[in-house]
Amino acid sequence: MEEHLPLPLLELARQISTRAAGRDERAYLVGGAVRDLLLGSPNLDLDLVIEGDAVHLAQELAEAGQADLLAHHRFGTATLRCGDHTLDVATARKETYAHPGALPEVTPGTIRDDLARRDFSINAMAVSLSPHDHGELIDLYGGRTDLEQRLVRVLHPGSFRDDATRILRGVRYEQRLGFELEAQTSGLLRRDLHMLDTISGDRIRHELELILNEREPEHAIQRLSDLGVLTRIGLAVEGEGEIAEVFRKARRMAEPEQLPALYLCLLIYSRTMQQLEALISRLNMPTRPSRAMRDTLRLKNSLGLLDRPSPRPSEVYDLLKEYDTPAVQANAIAWETLPAHGSLDLFLTNLRHVRPSLDGEDLKRLGIPPGPEMGAILRALHRAKLDGEVVTEADEERLALSLRAADDAAKTEPQKE
Ligand code: ATP
Ligand code: MG
Repeated sequence: MEEHLPLPLLELARQISTRAAGRDERAYLVGGAVRDLLLGSPNLDLDLVIEGDAVHLAQELAEAGQADLLAHHRFGTATLRCGDHTLDVATARKETYAHPGALPEVTPGTIRDDLARRDFSINAMAVSLSPHDHGELIDLYGGRTDLEQRLVRVLHPGSFRDDATRILRGVRYEQRLGFELEAQTSGLLRRDLHMLDTISGDRIRHELELILNEREPEHAIQRLSDLGVLTRIGLAVEGEGEIAEVFRKARRMAEPEQLPALYLCLLIYSRTMQQLEALISRLNMPTRPSRAMRDTLRLKNSLGLLDRPSPRPSEVYDLLKEYDTPAVQANAIAWETLPAHGSLDLFLTNLRHVRPSLDGEDLKRLGIPPGPEMGAILRALHRAKLDGEVVTEADEERLALSLRAADDAAKTEPQKE
């Protein structure tokens, strides 16, 4: 830990464990942080479990000025901040499931109880932070051996039945770490695929988002497809083997924070609108990604409009401006070899960023009053700039004034008659 973690975080963990010890409670580092420390690839998302009252402890720390308390929640968990780092503390808990797929009933428990409710052996280890056995590894399920043998293993045969989101999680870790599902775990996963039907849309979507936020999600997506998981959640993808290629192209095209939305649009590309609507409702998709996905299919169905020799840039802009960016990007990736691609590419790399240099204030300075006329002139400037008819600010001023003059002439004409 001392080798891999930044000092302020270590210091905060030390203060927590000292305070816990003072209250006759115990603190442990758990989950992904322990896994990644043992793998030698540290993870700064620290999770601590307290045998005792985590929220009380976090409040004490905040009152003593040792950290900021960002939030505390149901189930006795709290988030602390120290400088740039955050740290989650949770009361050790025991979980029981009323029925498969139900949210668990939670009661306070020991570190053993807390580890027993976890998903995989590699995620079910803890390191004691208490002064008397500081640094001792608690590994009740052979997590360390599984890390060495590169295996993802559930803790018990009922694990996927208790919580089928673990199916998605297991594949995520397997593919991220280059591990393999342990043989029995793999059998259980296949047996319990139907349990995904018991999981709410929000929870499945959350796990899907975690996958799409991985560095190379195509591996997990391909594996989920091969295992039949995607079909089960209404997201069957066509074109085996193409996922990897289109996802790589996506990474060359979009900013990292836009990637998950673009991946989604690529995943649904070969679906019908009806299948897409079923998916949106199954996963209870929020408005934003739903719009991007619907736009993807709408644009795919209208691309014929762009399939002609050299349309004017302003026409391309008018056609594409109403679609969400990921939808345009997904179509650009999917249509790479077709004539429309040139227009999509021009729009993405250039046209969508074009703005006239003059704004309403500048037009007022030129003596054009605010109102519908000004709006029309601004749109004309934008169009002229897209089509390269104006380049400099002076060009725009000339065009604005000539449009104004033409407009005045049109207005005065009827009075002359
Ligand atoms: P990552 O590096 O992806 O953040 P992590 O192990 O920190 O990995 P989290 O999703 O942050 O994963 O969850 C923290 C810990 O909580 C996990 O290590 C695991 O022990 C436990 N956990 C999370 N979700 C589940 C679940 N559905 N069932 C059982 N345990 C879970
Ligand atoms: Mg984590």
